Amino acid sequence: MESRSALPVAVIGAGPAGLTTAILLAQKNWPVVVIDQQEPPIDKACGEGLMPPALQVLARLGPLAELQQCGRSFDGISYHVPAATFARGNSGINQTGALMAAATFLSGAGLGVRRTRLSRWLYQQARQQPLIRFEIGRADHYIRHSDHAILEYTQPQDRSNRVRLACRYVIGADGLRSTAARWIQPNQAKSRKARRNQQRWGLTVHCRGVPAPGKVMVHFSQGMEAYVTPLGSDEIGIAFLWYRSSFQPRGRSTITADLFARFEELQQSLAIDSGPLAGWLDASLQAVGPLYTRRRAITATGISLVGDAAGYVDAITGEGLNLALHSASLLADTLDRGLLLAATEGRLLNAQDLRQYTRAVNRLKFWPELLTHGALLLSRRPVLQRAFVSCMQRQPYFFSQILNVNMGLASGWQLCHWRYWPAILQLLFQVVDRLASQLSRRG
Ligand SMILES: Cc1cc2nc3c(=O)[nH]c(=O)nc-3n(C[C@H](O)[C@H](O)[C@H](O)COP(=O)(O)OP(=O)(O)OC[C@H]3O[C@@H](n4cnc5c(N)ncnc54)[C@H](O)[C@@H]3O)c2cc1C
Repeated sequence: MESRSALPVAVIGAGPAGLTTAILLAQKNWPVVVIDQQEPPIDKACGEGLMPPALQVLARLGPLAELQQCGRSFDGISYHVPAATFARGNSGINQTGALMAAATFLSGAGLGVRRTRLSRWLYQQARQQPLIRFEIGRADHYIRHSDHAILEYTQPQDRSNRVRLACRYVIGADGLRSTAARWIQPNQAKSRKARRNQQRWGLTVHCRGVPAPGKVMVHFSQGMEAYVTPLGSDEIGIAFLWYRSSFQPRGRSTITADLFARFEELQQSLAIDSGPLAGWLDASLQAVGPLYTRRRAITATGISLVGDAAGYVDAITGEGLNLALHSASLLADTLDRGLLLAATEGRLLNAQDLRQYTRAVNRLKFWPELLTHGALLLSRRPVLQRAFVSCMQRQPYFFSQILNVNMGLASGWQLCHWRYWPAILQLLFQVVDRLASQLSRRG
């Protein structure tokens, strides 16, 4: 295979976004060097649910059947709100039952697959590309020249020795705490600190010997959620998400039991007792946070961000991988057109050359991010949770359509179609009704 350039494109990060961009670029005959501080397969806190459109991108990388064999498909999402007990003025208590609403995907099925297996599959596909080279190291410095860039990284076996890599372009696919993002926008850290009170954290555990559900189950508890994703016939992954203000871990050894204790219905539905958790859970425990990361710019001269590195709202709607893979595909397509032009003109690609990528990513993320903010509102407000789930119980097709918008398969404007007005009115009625009864209880 003939390479189209003497200098490689450097990709920082061998996560799903980095490996997808690398494979797609190599398929177009661009030489690529992938640098990651860890050796694949790489684990990470993740709900591990791949939505149907994410699988379409993965199908461009290699035989999907091999990946499907090591996971478990699911056909939709279900939301679960626990039973609630309210104090009612001076006259006693009022109880409301648990609620559940389920939506089936309107097209295709999703795939629950253990993160390490996804990483291994991606790595295998990348290894089959002769134009991809792997380096283990931590990228920490970037120098821009007129027609090329120098990326510096340190290798774990010799931290005093800095390796300098001359490259045609740098792609920052280095996740939430992106180093590359700081090269584009040096004051990132300050904007994160300002939102400390609203910080959300996530943790994943794996369980064997539990029948896998056919849908991803999302259980709400006050300011927290637990996601159950089927990963095999008797294997599930549970991702817990919480606000810093609603849960403060006492320590690593007790964190899982403390989290489970907040989700009684989940324990009952999985038929487990939080006592013997230690024997029942897989040993690996992955945690990450804070999740919210805003980027004002995702491209600059000689460098672009992709995946979580390009900004992230929250894991509550489980769209991260889908957005990361689609952005990777958009970036590879844009670079394929731009790199040759920049090379012939003897310069680096700049933000203006990449504006098509920036616009496409903004369009791609607009509705999913809006819905994620809506889901976060539900997470903070039990009254809204109950109103939403109770309405979706009666309007499952509307719920499926919301999932479609969240996955980028339909525009959010479609939710305003007159067909959905009864559902929207019902939702508004539910919200008003529940707010009124909450106020009367307080009175
Ligand atoms: C709790 C939780 C649950 C989630 N659930 C889901 C879900 O169910 N479905 C879904 O689609 N998404 C989910 N997500 C989101 C999903 O995990 C991410 O969107 C996805 O992993 C992004 O991939 P990435 O390649 O951009 O980043 P990452 O997977 O984070 O990869 C970044 C890579 O960069 C490497 N790296 C970092 N810095 C450097 C450096 N300086 N030098 C070299 N290498 C570096 C890291 O080692 C890592 O391998 C969830 C996220 C969380 C936190």
